[in-house]
Amino acid sequence: MTQIFNFSAGPAVLPKPVLARAQAEMLDWHGSGMSVMEMSHRGKEFMSILAKTEADLRTLLNIPNNYKVLFLQGGAIAENAMIPLNLLNGKAADYAVTGGWSKRSVEDASAYGKINVVASTEADKYTYVPEFSSWKLNKDAAYLHICTNETMSGVEFLDLPNTNGVPIVADMSSHILSREIDVSQYGVIYGGAQKNIGPAGLCIVIVREDLLDSASSLTPAVFNWKTQAENQSMINTPPTYSIYIAGLVFEWLIEQGGVAAIEEVNIAKAKLLYDYIDSTDFYVNHVALKNRSRMNIPFYLKDESLNDAFLQGAQENSLLQLKGHRAVGGMRASIYNAMPIEGLQALVAYMKVFESKHSA
Ligand SMILES: *Cc1c(COP(=O)(O)O)cnc(C)c1O
Repeated sequence: MTQIFNFSAGPAVLPKPVLARAQAEMLDWHGSGMSVMEMSHRGKEFMSILAKTEADLRTLLNIPNNYKVLFLQGGAIAENAMIPLNLLNGKAADYAVTGGWSKRSVEDASAYGKINVVASTEADKYTYVPEFSSWKLNKDAAYLHICTNETMSGVEFLDLPNTNGVPIVADMSSHILSREIDVSQYGVIYGGAQKNIGPAGLCIVIVREDLLDSASSLTPAVFNWKTQAENQSMINTPPTYSIYIAGLVFEWLIEQGGVAAIEEVNIAKAKLLYDYIDSTDFYVNHVALKNRSRMNIPFYLKDESLNDAFLQGAQENSLLQLKGHRAVGGMRASIYNAMPIEGLQALVAYMKVFESKHSA
């Protein structure tokens, strides 16, 4: 098999043992004679997959009992609209804009009610999380929305503002399960699956029970969190195969020692690349040190006329999908849980060779 390292921001690399197991179980899941894709979502086989998948996620994130776990469709972007529909209930909401994704959330939510932008780093090209003391939080907001890892610009929150009881709604699409979190600090956690969990299209929503009573009557049933919570995410046919793959990823993560163990690896992986970037003038990362993402590392060549040569050489060295997001340019290495440390070693080795070839 062709050995490559895939640095795609999403859909992204999955653990090889997960794909191998899906392959082995493709035609005949556990002696059922069926592929998971062919099973009734209400049959006992799939119901057992769903129950195990939810239980393993609860274990991994230590999710308290007063939170529901929903397996929805439409990715994270659908939730941009469904968050205000499920939560606003005639109030206004606070949003912090710290990158392209939280900006998009504001744009999408604004159709449904009054949205107050309480902090923004857009003028500074999204290179840091603004000091919480400067945020103009409203004490009667329905919620505060944040994106705790900005996938395009590589900005990550390591702590949270004090909202005095206003629930925090966090888009964790690109770093969920990469580090330990305290779920009880959030009202809602959501994320598209295609970064750290599984196939694109699936969206996981973790919501505190007391927030389930505020939905607008205009909320579609498939996106109504309360309706879905009362129906085990089965008010419609859920994305069964994607849930199955997510379940395999959760089992793999538990085998790795869980979130605390993978966090240690993630810290080591990110350090390899940041340390090298910081050691040279040839490459640069613009994000404030304390807000540098462990999952998405954008970097630029000082001489941007070398970009194409850099990407071409990377490709020849089996280092794929390093081109930065079109909104920010440059390069980006996305190094999710499933990226082995060998990928970082190979990338840094290549960057060193490229530098020595092209330094005057
Ligand atoms: C990828 C991403 C999204 C978009 O997810 P979709 O599945 O395309 O809806 C939203 N937010 C963040 C932080 C992301 O990384």
